[in-house]
Amino acid sequence: MLEEKVKKVIRDIPDYPKKGIIFKDITTLLNNAEVFKEVIDYFAKKYKDIDFVCGIESRGFIFGSAIAYAINKGFVPLRKKGKLPYTTVSEKYALEYGFDEIEIHIDAFKDIKNPKILLVDDLIATGGTAEAAVKLIQKIGGIVVAAGFVIELTFLDGAKKIRDLGIKVDSIAK
Ligand code: AMP
Repeated sequence: MLEEKVKKVIRDIPDYPKKGIIFKDITTLLNNAEVFKEVIDYFAKKYKDIDFVCGIESRGFIFGSAIAYAINKGFVPLRKKGKLPYTTVSEKYALEYGFDEIEIHIDAFKDIKNPKILLVDDLIATGGTAEAAVKLIQKIGGIVVAAGFVIELTFLDGAKKIRDLGIKVDSIAK
């Protein structure tokens, strides 16, 4: 089963980037050709009919762009504030201390009406980042069909934040 394979190849790094956090290192999934391909194919098979894949900086870029390539659709990066060169729309979200902000290019979905979007990131923890990403996509007219994650930290219940927005959460490993 893919979930088991993913769990097996992901590496837990305790106390990174700070004490008490168990960091899920996905580099050991990326360098495993078989599992990396199966992860991409999992999403590609289910979301063939979307218009764009949106990936969250930075590990969401790796999975998101590979999925977009596999289904022959465009990829849209959601980036940390100040990184996108053209006119942007932005959304702030709370962190443990302070806040962060992500942005999207205002014309990212070109002139497609009600574009169907698959949002992708490597992992959902508190759900704050993904929630901001959904709001950002909606601000420029995108319809988020699903939010896909390779890993979901269920004890933080971040998926609830996304489901409460009426959006399906599709995580491979829980
Ligand atoms: P959150 O907004 O709390 O859902 O955090 C999600 C974002 O932070 C994602 O972009 C993840 O890559 C990253 N992240 C949060 N917690 C972890 C963790 N334990 N291991 C790896 N990445 C994490």
